[in-house]
Amino acid sequence: MTQIIPKKLIAVENNWQKVLSSAFSDPLALLTYLDLDPKQFEDDIAARRLFPMRVPLPFAARMKKGDANDALFRQVFPDKKEFLNDPNYLLDPLKEQNNDKPGVLHKYQSRVLLLVRGGCAVNCRYCFRRHFPYSDNHLNKLKWQETLDYIKQDVNINEVIYSGGDPLMAKDDFLAWLTQEIVNIKHITRIRIHTRLPVVIPSRITPELIQWFTKTRLKPVMVLHINHPQEIDQLMRDALKKLTDAGVTLLNQGVLLKNINDSIEVQVALSESLFDAGVLPYYLHVMDKVQGAQHFDQDDNVAKGIMAGMIKRLPGFLVPKLVREIGGQPGKTPIDLNLHP
Ligand code: SF4
Repeated sequence: MTQIIPKKLIAVENNWQKVLSSAFSDPLALLTYLDLDPKQFEDDIAARRLFPMRVPLPFAARMKKGDANDALFRQVFPDKKEFLNDPNYLLDPLKEQNNDKPGVLHKYQSRVLLLVRGGCAVNCRYCFRRHFPYSDNHLNKLKWQETLDYIKQDVNINEVIYSGGDPLMAKDDFLAWLTQEIVNIKHITRIRIHTRLPVVIPSRITPELIQWFTKTRLKPVMVLHINHPQEIDQLMRDALKKLTDAGVTLLNQGVLLKNINDSIEVQVALSESLFDAGVLPYYLHVMDKVQGAQHFDQDDNVAKGIMAGMIKRLPGFLVPKLVREIGGQPGKTPIDLNLHP
């Protein structure tokens, strides 16, 4: 049965959980909302069984109606190319599965990453964790205590990163509890959140979030995930201003995606729009080679050409670092721009 299209009002609704629960999960409903002909997508829709579709209305509202090649639509709509099975593209490209410490990734000496919540408000088709077994990494209160004890006993850790899925899928009262526990660990000085939720549902920036995130001794950093300037609208700018006004450092990491943002023009416009919204470009990732997303993968030489163009046109602080994540490596690997022919 076709999902009922949510009323437009919900896009600016203050209750982020209502917006989340009314997100598009039925491809036909999204196509109807965007005035696109379902016949054109008959073969694509089946790919939702590989990875469910999820698109909140505030994000869908920024797509161009009637445009099957819209840069936002293409990031989230199932595609028959996801069935292609190239052996170079893996289920676990970053070797994160079979982690001996469920819910915790401790790849870097001074930082520990907590998988606070599996699942996201939006399902990006190119996601490197699209096959990640979040259910095996879900922590109950006892496990959280073990995780906190682990952080306590390692004085080399000075930063805790909330990741996921999307950590802001968790409710504010849980995040307030967790953050207070981390505040009580003396050697932690920074708290960082990796999230796409404020991008797709700006009302997720609640007064409660501002309270638990910014009113402690920890320096707050939020790393957003925005790939295209069209993703930034006034609703989002207003939400981000609440964070910058409260002293949050805002950074962005994007992913270079073929036929979506793989041009100098789009990347320059993205950096300018980010800065306008109070966000500094941090990383531009080449895509992790995850099974089902090979059609988004762009050649390294194209990436290097784009970077060369950005360096010419932007001040240095608006040029993100071009990086690749390699499974098993302790940090991101910068891509050497001098190799460009
Ligand atoms: S928001 Fe991030 S973790 Fe979630 S589906 Fe998109 S890329 Fe993956």
